[in-house]
Amino acid sequence: MTLLELIAGFARRHWRAYAAAAAMLVGIAVLTVYVPRRVGHVIDGLVAGEVTGGALWREIAILVAMGLVIYVLRVGWRLALFSAAFRLGVELRGQLYARLARQGPPFFHRQRTGDLMARATNDVDAVEMAAGEAFLAAFDGTLTLVLVVAMMTLAVDWRLGLVALLPFPFMAWAFFTISRHVHEAWRASLERFSDLNEHVQETVAAVRTLRALGLEANADREFGQRAQRAADAGFGAQKWESAYEPAVGLTLTAAGALTLGVGGALVWHGEISIGQLTAFTMYLTQLIWPMFAAGWVLSLIERGKAAWARLEPLLRAPLSVADSGGVAAAPAGTLRCERVTFAYPAADGTAAPAERAPALAGIDFELAAGRTLGIVGPTGAGKSTLLALLLRHYEPQAGTLAWGDHALPAYRLSALRGAIAWVPQEPFLFSASIADNIALARADATRADVERVARMADLAADIARLPDGYDTRVGERGVTLSGGQRQRVAIARALLADAPLLLIDDALSAVDTGTEARILAELRRARAGRTAIIVSHRLSAVADADRIMVLKNGRVVEEGTHAALVARDGWYAAQWRYQQLEASLEDV
Ligand code: ADP
Repeated sequence: MTLLELIAGFARRHWRAYAAAAAMLVGIAVLTVYVPRRVGHVIDGLVAGEVTGGALWREIAILVAMGLVIYVLRVGWRLALFSAAFRLGVELRGQLYARLARQGPPFFHRQRTGDLMARATNDVDAVEMAAGEAFLAAFDGTLTLVLVVAMMTLAVDWRLGLVALLPFPFMAWAFFTISRHVHEAWRASLERFSDLNEHVQETVAAVRTLRALGLEANADREFGQRAQRAADAGFGAQKWESAYEPAVGLTLTAAGALTLGVGGALVWHGEISIGQLTAFTMYLTQLIWPMFAAGWVLSLIERGKAAWARLEPLLRAPLSVADSGGVAAAPAGTLRCERVTFAYPAADGTAAPAERAPALAGIDFELAAGRTLGIVGPTGAGKSTLLALLLRHYEPQAGTLAWGDHALPAYRLSALRGAIAWVPQEPFLFSASIADNIALARADATRADVERVARMADLAADIARLPDGYDTRVGERGVTLSGGQRQRVAIARALLADAPLLLIDDALSAVDTGTEARILAELRRARAGRTAIIVSHRLSAVADADRIMVLKNGRVVEEGTHAALVARDGWYAAQWRYQQLEASLEDV
């Protein structure tokens, strides 16, 4: 869809607002072209001695009244139109947000946050301006041009009209040339602004790291350079835009000179009256607006086009994981993973290169409802990746994942994800009270529910020490919780969600062994009979699982119960001995 199609479609849906604005503009245009004609008549009347005293005052009163009506109509059309154009901004932002909210991690790996924010603000504004001001300025400008030229040629003198319009093709050529540069300059400017936004976002997010490394001066310099580049690009666009005005001035000066020469001769030969020449000169000044409107419209359209070219791909980007499943019922039953192989897509979003080693290769397992599966293995083995596939953040390239009677893609994403409580390694806290953060998945939870799960997650004592207890604001604009506290908030969230499947991704790595053991015991008690997959680098966390899988380089290298694995004397047994020794040393 092009920008013009977008605007046309929008105008069709909001035709009432556009029609009201257009009707008012027609009123303005008719009144405006009528004024010089009336003034011309009055002057001729004055010269002939026909307009005197009271009649002159009446004429002045009429002109003032027409001026007032024009003023009211001008305010009216702007209100009608801009309220509609704002709606386009709201609609576009809504669509953009909905699209982004449904995209998965592969999409966000390719996009930069600051750039997305720039598109949602700056670029949407530019499209909104094209749909509002540009649309009506184009309409108004054309209307005024046609009426004024008609009055000049028909009501005054067609020869004078033709001569006065001679310099205008030059202006059309100049506008065409300038508008091409304006497009390019706006594109560069919008991109530089995105770049600056991206930099600010990244610097703010990483401010502690920058400070810790003493890199503030570098960051300042980098920011200064990017801000300069953004300013230069913005100035570049303005520079080209400012070329419109001299082109208009030049054209009108030439037209004025021609009018004076040819018009003077016509008056001299008695072919037109002085009043007509005065009216003609006034018409010529009325051409200033359509000319400026043309320049303005062109630059707004070019800016809108450049912005739309950046927005459309986002709105059209296919969802990274299709939500085309029809099964709306919550999944239940055995979880099956058959010969699943998966490699991460390349950073640019293209399919994973064949030579890259897959993150998971030929994974097979079956987990009956109510059982617990432990997944262990060295860092980078593919444990988190397997959970990501279960959540359908990514699709495996080969093999199937199924839950109960259906493969995962057969379920609606909302049904599938609603049935899973996922506790990630680094949970995110929203800027809200700690109680609201815990009750994230269950807005209807009572304070008593929240307190119960907080106790189970061994968080109650920590919360009691916060300034406002459960009402303490946490997250970006509140109290900063430690890594271990965040992890326990996430565990409490998952306990409250009470979903059929619990996925814990090494989510207790930042709490001590004793606390971990207590929380896991609570989890087992509270979730007796529910399915769980526990990923952990501490083997004690999975020792009680019904079954344990050891992953290494994306493959299952050992599996069985804790007792069987310890007896096997492989990676698991060695790690177990090492961690036991470590724990006994900690106790000393
Ligand atoms: P684990 O959870 O066992 O530590 P992961 O599942 O996080 O391991 O990672 C498995 C492999 O996939 C690693 O080699 C890691 O570098 C790679 N990987 C993880 N996430 C991504 C990603 N988003 N894009 C590309 N490669 C990734």
